[in-house]
Amino acid sequence: MSIQVTILGCGSATPTLFRNPTSQWVEIHGRFFLIDCGEGTQVELLRRKLKMSKLRAIFISHLHGDHFFGLPGLISSMHLMGRKEKLLLIGPRGLKQIMELIFKHSETILRFELEIVELEDNSSGIVFSESSFHVSAFPLNHRITCFGFKFSENPKLRNLKPEMVEYFKIPIAERKKIKAGADYLSPSGELIPNAKLCFEPPPSVEYAFCSDTAPHADIIPHIESVTALYHEATFENDLALRAVETFHSTAAEAARQAKQAGVKKLYLGHFSSRYRDTDVILSQAREVFSETEAVYDGFSFTVT
Ligand SMILES: [Zn+2]
Repeated sequence: MSIQVTILGCGSATPTLFRNPTSQWVEIHGRFFLIDCGEGTQVELLRRKLKMSKLRAIFISHLHGDHFFGLPGLISSMHLMGRKEKLLLIGPRGLKQIMELIFKHSETILRFELEIVELEDNSSGIVFSESSFHVSAFPLNHRITCFGFKFSENPKLRNLKPEMVEYFKIPIAERKKIKAGADYLSPSGELIPNAKLCFEPPPSVEYAFCSDTAPHADIIPHIESVTALYHEATFENDLALRAVETFHSTAAEAARQAKQAGVKKLYLGHFSSRYRDTDVILSQAREVFSETEAVYDGFSFTVT
């Protein structure tokens, strides 16, 4: 049980021969999601043998084209392939109007239900949940309204110690509550604390996505202590002014955000097309936060 992320695109602004615009495939507990859907996402899904039919929901960070221009094409293909299951689309205000206009003028009546949920500007909170995990959105600091997303495993059940189950003769009906954290009241009235009956559960992991954004203190609480953080690092440190103008981050700024938030691992992406290789960006970030990797299209990692 963990979170698996595959980078479908980690370039900024325009597609290049070596990098697609932003998109990521996220698998958590047997459910599949996309974060952003830049141009080229469909082809990349085919290349990576990832099935678009499995997608439950697509999260769109913001309405700059390099983060969503692949969406009409992807949804049209789902339609042509006979998708029946509902698809949830979550993103900023305006997304619904854009999609409806495209389907109106192409006279497309989708064969499946497309539910579009628009997030209020500057809002934060849970936007998707299942029994064992949830996804929350939070505001980033970009030129237009932009959201980060965080995938969080819910606390896992504790494991009963077999010898204690036997010793206290715990009835089956009581075991579920104890695994969820309850103490046990024996028939004789003795209260047995949970810690005596159970092993600690495996830790729950969290994955946060922050792109596009300039660094901001208000983002830190939302990414505090996450297991893995994907953060944009569009520019090397020398282009700090350009980063300010465009509401993006440099390598060191991304690393400082990770350090302040106390994350376990940092993954950098959203690289400017001026960087064919990202060695400079990676080394500048590692000077601030050593647990950093630079991603590339097709890069995959497990959040544990
Ligand atoms: Zn942008």
